[in-house]
Amino acid sequence: MIKFYNTLSKKIEEFKPVKKDFVRIYNCGPTVYDYDHLGHMWTYTMADIMRRVLEYNKLKVRQVMNITDVGHLTEGDVDKMLLASEREKKTPGQICEFYTKIFMENRRKLNILEPHIICKATEHIKEMQGLIKKLLDNGYAYKITDGIYYNVPKFKDYGKLSGNTVEKLEVGARIEVNPEKKHPADFALWIIAKPGHLMQWDSPWGRGYPGWHIECSAMSTKYLGDELDIHTGGEDNIFPHHENEIAQSEGATGKKFVRIWMHTRFLNIEGEKMSKSLGNFMRLQDIEKKGFEPLALRYLFLITHYRTPLNFTWEGLKAADTAWKRVLEFMDVLKNLKAKSGHNEEIDKLIEKSKEEFSEAINFDLDTPKAVAVMFDFMNKINKFIAEKKLDQKNVLESYNLVKDFDKVFAILKEEKETKAPKDVLKLLEDREKARKEKDWTKADEIREKIKKNGFMILDGDSGPRLKKI
Ligand SMILES: [Zn+2]
Repeated sequence: MIKFYNTLSKKIEEFKPVKKDFVRIYNCGPTVYDYDHLGHMWTYTMADIMRRVLEYNKLKVRQVMNITDVGHLTEGDVDKMLLASEREKKTPGQICEFYTKIFMENRRKLNILEPHIICKATEHIKEMQGLIKKLLDNGYAYKITDGIYYNVPKFKDYGKLSGNTVEKLEVGARIEVNPEKKHPADFALWIIAKPGHLMQWDSPWGRGYPGWHIECSAMSTKYLGDELDIHTGGEDNIFPHHENEIAQSEGATGKKFVRIWMHTRFLNIEGEKMSKSLGNFMRLQDIEKKGFEPLALRYLFLITHYRTPLNFTWEGLKAADTAWKRVLEFMDVLKNLKAKSGHNEEIDKLIEKSKEEFSEAINFDLDTPKAVAVMFDFMNKINKFIAEKKLDQKNVLESYNLVKDFDKVFAILKEEKETKAPKDVLKLLEDREKARKEKDWTKADEIREKIKKNGFMILDGDSGPRLKKI
């Protein structure tokens, strides 16, 4: 049984897809006018782990993610796309392509699986207009001078996700800047373009561009149908974005839009919120520049539960990096071990128990910190058996396969690339062995250094020395 915390019910509930054995997932995608940061990567890694957990449970998944490239965001009164366009001397298309490419590369570096469908907002303007028309027809939207607006008080369930009900919003409303709006909480579905707005399209209501929220309602329905199983995002998406998505989709279809809403908490940097004024936006590239591999960051994400705010610190990353390398080293040792003792039935039982505990952890609201602890406990016990020489080759293989199995969810092991050492390095290794046999330790050490300069390190083990690429 899989359980997830649902932001909608504020409870951990049993997960049951609308269609048996087929899960429909929508991830709110990035806005591609600027670089993605670690907070984004945490959210997408969580969505990836969730998908992998479902697949680990043999469920078929269809995952859809949008790319927000319509240029509707503004900074003050200025179109953000216009700002980026001037700053970088590029067209909107070039800007979106550039940042999308980096975003997708960063995902791949973190072993995040590609969604089955990636859809761009600019390629779905027709679908958005269709949805707006539906909302106008059934009375959930109205037209004023500067565009089409959603009539929030008309949707009785407004506020069910975020708690921001119409009454609460009324109390908290600041002086309304647009006197034509019927209610301060009403939000734009279609905006008539002001002169100079870079991206705009024809519509039955005048040339303009869509509001931010409508794209996710339009595209999720197009690719997944009216009822989704899981919708993900960062906690900053809960209001207004996801609350408005519900109002739009349910206003149009009359059906329950999403079964489970999942949100990742904030990611802070050294105790501070990431912000422009603090200039502390951290990117994956900043981590790589300091010599860390992206998968060490993925490991750090795994040991933090997605519903706990993550405080990123360099110290924390360093600790995660050390632990992550221990896993890689463990697998490396097993791969090269030649175990000659008798079969150890205790290990059979340990494997069975660890597999059960692992499943239990991941299936309980993605408790990856616990699942990682299960893996470490297993590794420590196996290491002890190795030291005591209490296992056979079958035990070794099955232990290796168990961690491989865990990695279907963790995805922290690197792709296995056999890096064969060049001939001259192999010759050096031979020379070193000879020197060691002759007890010429100085020479042996010198050769070790030479091998290191060639990009390899020597691992001395039970089955003789091996070379590992540094
Ligand atoms: Zn969205």
